[in-house]
Amino acid sequence: MSDLVDLLREGLPEAAVVVDPDVTAAYRQDMAGFCESGAPAVLVFPDTVEQVRHVLRCATALRVPVVPQGARTGLSGAANAVDGCILLSLVRMNRILEIDPVNRIAVVEPGVVNAELSRAAGAHGLTYPPDPSSWESCTIGGNIGTASGGLCCVKYGTTSEYVLGLDVVLADGELLRTGRRTAKGVAGYDLTRLLVGSEGTLGVVVGATLALRPTPPPQLALAAEFPSTEAACAAVCAVMEAGYTPSLMELMDTVSVRAVNALAQMGLPDSTAALLLIAFDTLDPVADLAAAGEICTAHGATEVVPAADSAESELLLQARRLSLTAMDRLGTTMVDDVAVPRSALAAMISGVAGIAERFDLTIGVVAHAGDGNTHPVVVFDADDPDETARARESFDAIMALGLDLGGTITGEHGVGLLKRDWLARELGPVGLELQRRVKAAFDPLGLLNPGKVL
Ligand SMILES: Cc1cc2nc3c(=O)[nH]c(=O)nc-3n(C[C@H](O)[C@H](O)[C@H](O)COP(=O)(O)OP(=O)(O)OC[C@H]3O[C@@H](n4cnc5c(N)ncnc54)[C@H](O)[C@@H]3O)c2cc1C
Repeated sequence: MSDLVDLLREGLPEAAVVVDPDVTAAYRQDMAGFCESGAPAVLVFPDTVEQVRHVLRCATALRVPVVPQGARTGLSGAANAVDGCILLSLVRMNRILEIDPVNRIAVVEPGVVNAELSRAAGAHGLTYPPDPSSWESCTIGGNIGTASGGLCCVKYGTTSEYVLGLDVVLADGELLRTGRRTAKGVAGYDLTRLLVGSEGTLGVVVGATLALRPTPPPQLALAAEFPSTEAACAAVCAVMEAGYTPSLMELMDTVSVRAVNALAQMGLPDSTAALLLIAFDTLDPVADLAAAGEICTAHGATEVVPAADSAESELLLQARRLSLTAMDRLGTTMVDDVAVPRSALAAMISGVAGIAERFDLTIGVVAHAGDGNTHPVVVFDADDPDETARARESFDAIMALGLDLGGTITGEHGVGLLKRDWLARELGPVGLELQRRVKAAFDPLGLLNPGKVL
């Protein structure tokens, strides 16, 4: 251990190498439940690409595992420490290096916080669309690590769509440049896309070239109350089938609505079975909202309330953004992340209700409904072993249901530790073996974030 620390200190400032066990323990895990974390040997905060390369060279020389970390807001245990590892925190590499309005790109370091990039791009009349609900704290490196989504994906897609090129330090310290700054480019295999969502298991992102879009008009939202989640999901499908492209289409069930009210007294309709939030950032959002509102009414909405202006719309979106935090107040929570084809959303949500009944648990659901991406939140008492065991089983039942409905075990949070056992079921033996070979090609010694994903 002291060999490792001595070697690390040869290429890092004194303050960037932390061995105090109280501090390193505080960095052991992300925000996922039910995921183990090991005891790290050391925590490092490099400031430059060269320092990251030095860390990886030390790791390779001494065969020490490395766990890259952003803000640790992840929900799959992907940033959790393994025993004896170097925790490699990228949060101090947080500079926005370039915003280029002509080519509509940003070049950033990995520790830049998502919302800070959005604000910086906004000053140039541009926007960086991927907007996880954790956007005020999560980092671009973590977003790339998990290919994260957000509220606007139904119109603008996920992080994968916006990463044009990457600078990546490989396990042996070599620097790999992938991708391009151009609007188009098809030279060679698309390693950029492969690295996006690789959860720190293939390389350490030290720079990213990201696509920006012109800032759209401010979005206007409505809230529609439904007597059942089935009716709300039918409205979601009908809006899409009618050819509309909302900038957001989110569903909150009664558990999540009540939790948000309890946390933030937002005056949401407590008695509703499902609240659908729909927004448009089109040239005529009022007309589009009116049309979507009529579709909601035709599918049984008991009340449709359009926001008067963008400030009121923001308040509604704020309610949705707070929902995971609000449900955390109900007990210990496990957040699932199963995505199904949009047309199977109603079956998914009613299936989750059946699972809650079967296991005698509270399971609230929020969903990026326009993407068919559900977040069932299992609430339980961690001090009660029986309830904890039922929570774990219900979590697995939710993933099985998603796969049965033609979906995926993770729409945006990633596999990490939490869903590792389930990956084989989704990929099948051929897919799994090929993924193992890809991992071995990038990281032959298996030092990068071992035990995660595969
Ligand atoms: C309240 C709340 C709301 C959330 N809402 C959403 C949401 O709407 N959509 C969504 O997709 N997620 C959401 N998340 C999950 C989480 O915020 C995202 O997964 C986010 O992208 C993680 O970023 P981070 O900086 O915290 O990364 P971390 O959690 O630190 O790391 C995530 C993964 O990326 C890897 N990684 C980090 N930095 C690098 C790097 N530089 N190079 C290589 N690998 C790296 C890590 O090893 C790990 O595998 C939410 C979480 C919370 C707590």
